[in-house]
Amino acid sequence: MEDKIIGIDIDDTLNYSSDIIREYIIRYSNNYSNDNYLINNIDKIMRGISFDEIINSFFRDYCMEMASQMKIKENAKEVIDKLKEIGYKIYIITARSNNYYKNVDEFCNNYLKNNDIYFDKLITAQEHKLDVCKKENVFLMIDDSIDTCELLNENGINGLVFNSQINIEKTTTCDRVDNWNEIYDYVKNKKYECKKLISLTKNKNI
Ligand SMILES: [Mg+2]
Repeated sequence: MEDKIIGIDIDDTLNYSSDIIREYIIRYSNNYSNDNYLINNIDKIMRGISFDEIINSFFRDYCMEMASQMKIKENAKEVIDKLKEIGYKIYIITARSNNYYKNVDEFCNNYLKNNDIYFDKLITAQEHKLDVCKKENVFLMIDDSIDTCELLNENGINGLVFNSQINIEKTTTCDRVDNWNEIYDYVKNKKYECKKLISLTKNKNI
């Protein structure tokens, strides 16, 4: 099958999420505990690790307010438009779900439309992106989660890591980009094919 469908994550890939979440945690931490629990666990929260009842209630209260303020990253719109022009389909695939959002599909749809982001399909509530990428024939998924990208790579789907403050110190064999212009260059010049070639060569022990 022809490589056509590109999957794109929302939080910290298409937009800046963690800065706003950090700001809200610092501002409202006292409302949830008197021992700075949220602030002390800020790194775990940013990485999405072990959400307990306090963290869950913070997200239930502020998720939509935070998300509506998140700014699209530089050149994301322009690059997505160019990718569409050269024949790729754009699927926005996110872990965002009705756990924290009132109507996540409607919210994300409006957010993308309001920010003039083109997409062919929006798929929400996908915490584990491997199954959906397989099902939808996504050949390249761009995501700031290294775990997600590595799992995809292990299963023959290209996972491209969007670097962020949260993932930058973690090493990975996945390809990485710093910005949206690099994504355009990566896709247009089919740099993902190098990865396939390397793994083929390794498998054949050449
Ligand atoms: Mg993300």
